[in-house]
Amino acid sequence: MADDVSGKIADKILWVAVIGAGPAGYYTAEALTTGRDDVRVDIIDRLPTPFGLIRAGVAPDHQSIKNVAKRYSATNDRENVRFVGNLSLGRDITLKELQTLYDVVVLATGAAKDRELGLDGENLTGIIGSSAFVSWYNSHPDFRNLAPDLKVASVAVIGNGNVAIDVARVLAKTADEMTNSDLAPHAADQIHGSPIRDIYVFGRRGPLEASFTPKEMGELNELENCVALVDEGQLPDASGDDELAGAQKKNMIALRKMAENKPDDKNIRLHLMFYRRPMAILGDERVCGIRLEKTRVEADGTCTGTGETETLPVGLIVPCIGYKSAPIEDVPYNERRGRFENDEGLIADRLYCVGWARRGPTGTIGTNKPDGVAIAKKILEEVQPSGRGGRVGLDKIVEERDLKIVTFADWKKIDEAETSAATDGAPRVKFASVEDMIEAVDNQ
Ligand code: NAP
Repeated sequence: MADDVSGKIADKILWVAVIGAGPAGYYTAEALTTGRDDVRVDIIDRLPTPFGLIRAGVAPDHQSIKNVAKRYSATNDRENVRFVGNLSLGRDITLKELQTLYDVVVLATGAAKDRELGLDGENLTGIIGSSAFVSWYNSHPDFRNLAPDLKVASVAVIGNGNVAIDVARVLAKTADEMTNSDLAPHAADQIHGSPIRDIYVFGRRGPLEASFTPKEMGELNELENCVALVDEGQLPDASGDDELAGAQKKNMIALRKMAENKPDDKNIRLHLMFYRRPMAILGDERVCGIRLEKTRVEADGTCTGTGETETLPVGLIVPCIGYKSAPIEDVPYNERRGRFENDEGLIADRLYCVGWARRGPTGTIGTNKPDGVAIAKKILEEVQPSGRGGRVGLDKIVEERDLKIVTFADWKKIDEAETSAATDGAPRVKFASVEDMIEAVDNQ
């Protein structure tokens, strides 16, 4: 966009830098600029590509969820919103510098780091957290060389949330089933050539406490080459099913169906297991198994170990137990909750956070919309324009430091190159390196 701001008007402009071009960042930018000529938002991202988790987190076979990116593109088409890609906070510019240039800085940096299990053996080869694993199969440049060894017969996926289901499903689907996806080619080679036969997905509490959503559960009963199994003895008595409502009721229908499935129905078995918590990762250099302790759920919903253990022989373990935000220098951080210390989004004077960086890694993409609206309202009430340079100052720094930033028009070139490389119904073939993305910009 070409939006010159100079002279008297410059003093009346509220300059906002949003760090992170994911859903939370875009919903905040949308809310800040709706009906406002006096606000300018720069959405800054360290990658040359916008849309954050939509691109690198949402499962490659869940393309319909990714349609929401059209809404973010429309926000970016506004005169007063600009995407500044390939500009990294900490590497290219400091937070202090941004705070000098902009009236407000909003951290929409998500929760890109894996939580730790805190168990012996956690650093063995063959244990890969879901953030890394999902980023790998979604072509995130930081993880393209992850090279997980999938020449294993069985895999443990820890956690009873949607990320655990995503990981298990992507491992279980055939190449045909992934035709309409944007699964990274490097991951497709590994996954579809893998001898995996057993995928164990286990949670420390019961089926009623699991945070799976029904659509994702239902999909597990529709897989071409993989049968989902559950031990009927781990399900609550069917006489109580009528009392259930919402997700619990729908999940129970899918689980009862799984309890009737037979292990030999298909080539790959996906075992959903409840009341199991991880005790130790087994192996010398490489993972060769995981020891679990059986649990029971107490009246207050917490779980307690029973002392009874069992061992699963597995060659790969993917903990899907939640994420935490990456700390940023000089920003107060809550270690226990894995996010920035904030009071309803306010971190410090003129510094805010939104989305997973504010509330932790919960909720769907859509949950970020009311969050963005609330933070935008708070900012517009609490901060006044102060005649700062905003993007004019940023552009000067970019020039002085000879930084190669990527604009939204540049991103459209990357998008075009990716979509035109796709065949057989795939939506795109993603670039997995920043260099390739920049080359696509320069070559068009
Ligand atoms: P989640 O829903 O919070 O699930 C995390 C799981 O890990 C829970 O079962 C939790 O058990 C377990 N866990 C946590 N710490 C553990 C530990 N130390 N040992 C063993 N188990 C542990 O989180 P998520 O699956 O990472 O998903 C994050 C958010 O993204 C969720 O809101 C999810 O719905 C959303 N998402 C949505 C979709 C979709 O809509 N298709 C896809 C992916 C993700 P407890 O419950 O006992 O704590």
